[in-house]
Amino acid sequence: MKLCQRHMADAVAELKRRNLWRLVAQDPQVLRARTAAWLAGRSHIGELDPLVIVVLEILNKARALGVNGDFCPICETERVRKHPDLGPLWIQEFTDRVEELLRHNEVIA
Ligand SMILES: [Zn+2]
Repeated sequence: MKLCQRHMADAVAELKRRNLWRLVAQDPQVLRARTAAWLAGRSHIGELDPLVIVVLEILNKARALGVNGDFCPICETERVRKHPDLGPLWIQEFTDRVEELLRHNEVIA
């Protein structure tokens, strides 16, 4: 599962709006390493990547709702649950949580 272009663009826009984009790895290799670290529960505080966390938490949420497969987790959950506007809600919810996590770890003020 992977976010579609539209939902990825929405997630990126939300991170930029909150000035969290600066914490996102721009190197795909670093991004992959951070994804693996987050999944293994081994992320270092300085490497908490807002984009990685938001995307993975959205994937988790879709899976918890029984949505699997090779689709965008948001589009597919919207379709299965007949809830057309989950994207903004989920992106907001998980960006809130990431912001909280970063503040808690004093990565941001
Ligand atoms: Zn989508």
